[in-house]
Amino acid sequence: MARSLSPIGVQQDLSGRIFDIQSYSVHDGPGCRTLVFLSGCPLRCEWCANPEGLENRVRTLFRVMKCINRTQGCTRCIPKCPHQAISISDEKEIPLAIDWEKCRHCESHECVDACLQEAFVPASRDMKVSELMKIFDRDRHYWSGKGGATFSGGDPMYQKDFLQAVLKECRNAYIHTAIETSGFFPQETYLATMKYVDFAFNDLKHMDSDKHKEKTGVPNGLILANIAALAQSDWPGRLVLRSPVIEGFNDSKENMAAIAEFMHSVGLTEFNLLPFHRLGDSKWKSCGMVYPYSMYEATPPEKLEDLQKVLLDLGIKAYVGSDTPF
Ligand code: SF4
Ligand code: SF4
Repeated sequence: MARSLSPIGVQQDLSGRIFDIQSYSVHDGPGCRTLVFLSGCPLRCEWCANPEGLENRVRTLFRVMKCINRTQGCTRCIPKCPHQAISISDEKEIPLAIDWEKCRHCESHECVDACLQEAFVPASRDMKVSELMKIFDRDRHYWSGKGGATFSGGDPMYQKDFLQAVLKECRNAYIHTAIETSGFFPQETYLATMKYVDFAFNDLKHMDSDKHKEKTGVPNGLILANIAALAQSDWPGRLVLRSPVIEGFNDSKENMAAIAEFMHSVGLTEFNLLPFHRLGDSKWKSCGMVYPYSMYEATPPEKLEDLQKVLLDLGIKAYVGSDTPF
């Protein structure tokens, strides 16, 4: 079958897996933006706020609050599951017991069609380059002069072919692009993608590689090397490093000092401290996973201010939460 190419040679029917699209975002790059969440991530941060985007597969979510089994006796989904993964639960607060290991390998997702309450829903959907560009075309009328599209996840670089195709189309359509990435990719992929990005938030969660690996699943060497390579290249975009502040993990003054030292060594000046929050809690449950940070409190404002002061005193422009100036 002939491939459908855009005037600049981008394959229009290339498909990417997307788990959310939010229009009118104002904290993820300059101006008003359309925020696209791509599935798949090479990290496994224990505090992840978007667990439904960790894997690049169509995952089924079970939203307990929507299920009317306990209130109206519904059992429609149980016989429809071809893998016998659903049964009545003995637990007080959960109506259905789901064998998530069976769901992991399910391709039919018949529970989704069976449930009229949308208690079972697919976490993501596949979308072609041309379909996403149509959404940008619709939304661009609402972007301010400096708005555009931001790619998040998961980590959008996980689907590099799709992302690069969309970024090229955006560049051709004069759409400002931003990315939120872990930076944990082969340097060739990282730099080739950034070539089409105007603004980047790159996470830097800990300067100690062993500690970084303990809580995110990967060491930090590749991330540091990629940040350094981008910062010292002729890339014309703006790079802001950032990290959630996680109690007992990266919230020490020593870690901030090490971050500042690294940033000075590569000529970077901007860091965004993000408060930890538990908003991902219910999503972990919907994915059938245990949230390791369910007992942790949101980062206190005074903690963020303390760490901000450390960075400011060391000559880094440190922003807290959504205060990054665009
Ligand atoms: S995703 Fe598949 S295996 Fe899991 S409950 Fe639905 S139909 Fe059954
Ligand atoms: S079909 Fe939907 S509402 Fe009914 S038991 Fe299954 S999940 Fe609950």
